Amino acid sequence: MNFQHPITSKQPNVGTTIFAVMTGLANQHGAVNLAQGFPNVEVDPKLIALVDKHSREGKNQYAPMPGLPALKEKIAEKIEESYGAKYHPINEILITAGATQAIYSSLSAIVFPGDEVIVIEPAYDCYEPGIKLNGGIPVRTQLTADMKVDWKDVQNKISPKTRSIMINTPHNPTGSVLLKEDLLTLEKMVKNTNVIIISDEVYEHIVFDGERHESVCRYPALAERSIVMFSFGKTYHVTGWRLGYCIAPENIMKEIVKCHQFQSYCIHTPVQYAVTDYMDNKEKYLELNSFFQQKRDYFLSLVKQTKFKALPCAGTYFQLLSFAHLSDESDREYANRLTIDYKIASIPISVFYHNFRDDKILRFCFAKTDETLEKGVEGLIKVK
Ligand code: PMP
Ligand code: GLN
Repeated sequence: MNFQHPITSKQPNVGTTIFAVMTGLANQHGAVNLAQGFPNVEVDPKLIALVDKHSREGKNQYAPMPGLPALKEKIAEKIEESYGAKYHPINEILITAGATQAIYSSLSAIVFPGDEVIVIEPAYDCYEPGIKLNGGIPVRTQLTADMKVDWKDVQNKISPKTRSIMINTPHNPTGSVLLKEDLLTLEKMVKNTNVIIISDEVYEHIVFDGERHESVCRYPALAERSIVMFSFGKTYHVTGWRLGYCIAPENIMKEIVKCHQFQSYCIHTPVQYAVTDYMDNKEKYLELNSFFQQKRDYFLSLVKQTKFKALPCAGTYFQLLSFAHLSDESDREYANRLTIDYKIASIPISVFYHNFRDDKILRFCFAKTDETLEKGVEGLIKVK
């Protein structure tokens, strides 16, 4: 090509997402990939058969733009059963291409140029780009050393320009969860404001040690100003199917749907039909807590053979391990070296901070078969 367009980047400081980078490095070096968060446990063959059935039966054209009504009915039932909250299936639930699109469409719908959005760091990596691409300004607060939200700091950061506060429970990457008192504090804080809560709850069914998931849906005074995200990718071990949803009061949802219709129009049709049928098997999501708790505990028992220090993990399928006492390298360098030399890939936590704060902690995904976990930890055992 003779001409190179002088394109100006809208995201000059954004590179490739760490999940693609570390998965690429793991594949290149034949490392066990405990980096990107995806399960390699078996997907229920019945669910796969349902996708096949619906596709063969001709459900292959565009689905209704905001999602299949029957699927939204099932979701409304599930939310009511789980959290005692009533959402109107047609007007208050939207099917999206994973929670990722739900987050982006929501930010597109509510953020005006110059609006501030409070982000709690370490934060999942799609939040800030979504805010900034829509002209918003991220205002950051950081979790305390024991992985709690510093609500005083959040309060101090609320201004007349605050459009939204983004929360995430169970929390990626730390594995911490919000408790009832957190939500009650938040509820009080936003009471006389127009702040909209964006609540990312994709790990709603991965909460350990008998705790219950504290969804904002349980708190009517929060729910009435919240957009809540969920993901079938997490619930049915099918992250590649890109099926998620968000729920919000009708007037807010109306604006999100206006964005969704031009961002993806609708979502994969046979998968929506299949999941609609499959949702009748309630035990499939109810048993996830104990399934993943066993995985966490097995991974932790293996890690005991290594020099790494495990941090507490109350939810999600991620375990943090500290290497602060083992090396002075940056977490990125260290994660790269573990992948290349020890054949075990992880995610460096600094990428979840805007200033790349480095506490020398790595994130490992334990949503894997026992064999994969054993093979991964073999590499960690060799680290001196
Ligand atoms: N939020 C969090 C906290 C996540 O960890 C993820 C993905 N693991 C997402 C959102 C995106 O979910 P999805 O794959 O459904 O787009
Ligand atoms: N959410 C997953 C994680 O935290 C990855 C999602 C992605 O690759 N976009 O690892």
